[in-house]
Order: sequence, then C-alpha cells, then structure tokens
Amino acid sequence: MLRPSKAGLAISCPPSLRPTEVNHEHGSEAAVFGSACHRLQAILVDPKDELALTDINEAVSVVGVEHLIDDALYIVDQTKRAWEWVQQTFPQDRTKEPLSDFEREKFWDTAIPEVHLENELYSGTADVVARDNHRTVVLDWKNGRRWYDAEAQLLSYLDMLRDRYGKARSGEYIAMTVWTRLGRVTDKTYTDADIDNHRHRIKEAIRRSQLPPNELPYSPGDNCTFCPHNLNCPGLNAMARGAVSKLGTADVTALSTEEFVALRPQVKALEAVIKQYKSTEKALVSKLGELPVRDGVVLRAVERNTRSIIPGPAWEVIQLHITPDEFAPCVKINKGDLLDAVAARAPRGKKQAAKDDFMNELRDAGAVRVSTSARIEEVVLD
Ligand code: SF4
Repeated sequence: MLRPSKAGLAISCPPSLRPTEVNHEHGSEAAVFGSACHRLQAILVDPKDELALTDINEAVSVVGVEHLIDDALYIVDQTKRAWEWVQQTFPQDRTKEPLSDFEREKFWDTAIPEVHLENELYSGTADVVARDNHRTVVLDWKNGRRWYDAEAQLLSYLDMLRDRYGKARSGEYIAMTVWTRLGRVTDKTYTDADIDNHRHRIKEAIRRSQLPPNELPYSPGDNCTFCPHNLNCPGLNAMARGAVSKLGTADVTALSTEEFVALRPQVKALEAVIKQYKSTEKALVSKLGELPVRDGVVLRAVERNTRSIIPGPAWEVIQLHITPDEFAPCVKINKGDLLDAVAARAPRGKKQAAKDDFMNELRDAGAVRVSTSARIEEVVLD
C-alpha cells in the first residue's frame, strides 16, 4: 500500500511506485530526528500523553534526540506557537456562521494526534485529525528547511479519513500544513469531488507503474531527490548519463539558446543524482564510522564546535561594553520572528494589522532596507 507522503511522487513519476529493496531514509539521522520531532509534536497536541509537557527536556531525551537538542527544542517552540495560532483562529475563520463557544471547544477537543489510517490504497499516520459534525480536518507538521508541494499527501489522508468516518456533512475537508522552520501555515478546503479526482489519479499512477519495463513512463527531475529508486533508476540514470556526456563534450557557452535550455532537465537529473550521493555518503559515514577512500585516506565525520551567542543574557553584557551604534552592524534581525512576536501581543483578528502597523513604523524610522535579487525559476505562463 502507498504511503501518503509518496502520493505526489507517484503521480509525477509512476515508476517510483515499483518495489525497491533500498530504503535510504531508514535509520538515517535525519529520519530518526524527523520521527522524534513528530513524537514531540504529538505530545504537544495531546497533553494527556505519558510524558509531561512541562518537562520538554525530559521528553526530548526520552524520544532520543539529545545530541540534537537545540534543533529539537526549536521545533518544539515553533510547534507550540503554531498550535496556539491554529487552535485560536482556524475554526472561527473557516465557518460562514461563527461556531458557538461550546461547539468550538468540542471541535478542538476531538483533535487527535498520530492517527493511523488505512484503506485499499494507502496506509499511514496522520499527524493530527480533528472532526466536528460538519467537517473533517487533517494537519501535517513539516519540519524540513525547504517548502515543497504536499497537497497529494494531504489529499491521501483525507481519502482515508473519508473512508473511515464517512462523508463530511458540509462536504468540507480541510488540509492544513504547518511548516515549523519556515513559520508558515497553509490550509486549503477540499470537496468530495477533489478527493475522488485525487483517488482517480493515484489509481492511474498505480496502473502505469505496472507497465512492462520498456514502457515505464519515467519522469526524472526534482522529484528524484525523494524517490527510493534514485540510486538505481534506469530513467534517472539515462538522463544523468545524457547530461554527463553532453556537458563533458560541449562547450556550454557555445551552445545555441535552444540547445542550452534543452539541457536543463538533464542537468536537474544529474543534480538529483549528486544530491542523493551526498546524503547517502553522510548516512553511511554516520552508520559505519569511516569509509576507506584510497590508501591512507578515509571519509570520516569531523566534528566542529560552533559557538553562538544567546541574545537574552548577552544583551546585558553587551551594553556595558559597546554603544548601540557599534552594536548595530553585529546584528541581523529575523523579520518573520520579529513580526510574529509583535503579532503575539495583539488580540485575535488584529494580528495582521499589528504587523502592518509595526512595519510602517519601522519604515518611517528608516529601519527598512529593500534589496532586490533574482533567481532563475521556471514560471508557468497564464
Ligand atoms: S528516480 Fe526519478 S525517474 Fe526514477 S522512478 Fe524515481 S522519480 Fe522516477
């Protein structure tokens, strides 16, 4: 059965559904850390859990990420802030007629973390599920550093939830994604037709994944980074080989514009192979300790300590030694965090206005610098 997290990959490249013996993520530090963070997040959502919320340090050690404690505590902190926001604003914002306090409380009382779900297509664990008489909501914690399109994963959870609990009376199914590191919450409302359509696309992907090897519709690209086949995939390897041979023989600056742009998918495939190589290298070294490279040379994880200054206690000391003008060039302010701190003091419904007013005040004080940079992106034309 398909894991919901692989649904998007299955739709974009059906052969990714074919069985593989290699599981790169299994046992890697990133995977262990990811699972531990999800455990902590489940504890935060359900204070009745066996671990006391008040002692999150203990919880961190129990779930086994002591050596990454700073990072884990950061995720915990961001989760707490997001969860407060989600609980306060979500039910109210998403109903045409406001729910009574009783209904609102009841709605969130039913928020259950780590719900294992299964139907004929999928099997997986939803991070948080909430239901009332009208709607079904699923929430997914994302703790990675980069945003990606997780819509197919969320629709797959909704498909399983609909099978388990029946159709929502209002016909509304809500999928929320909380990007803890990016400080972003996205939510989208779906209908039964959206879920049916998604189910149809998944079934079609499954059908196409079972075609004979010479007819498999490989579609290499960015999606290969998350694919369990990416170390041994005929589609990706063919494309990467094409890129190597073309880049190895051609002077890219001498190519016509059309030839140059036509190379882009192959170069992206090559990038995906290199990226996967690097992360597998890291996982292998972390598991085996050392890897021999050649006579007298090994690959080894070399630890380096980085000292960072903790702003709160540092501030008292800094003021004794340098002036604010001398201090200013040493500081970088995270705009998103600062605006969130301002919004946290504002009442519900006024948070965005508080942020806007604060930004305007900063602008009037000459404290906002606008800089422009450009990155090359593929843009879909209207
Ligand atoms: S590695 Fe890329 S091309 Fe190959 S199956 Fe996976 S997603 Fe498709």
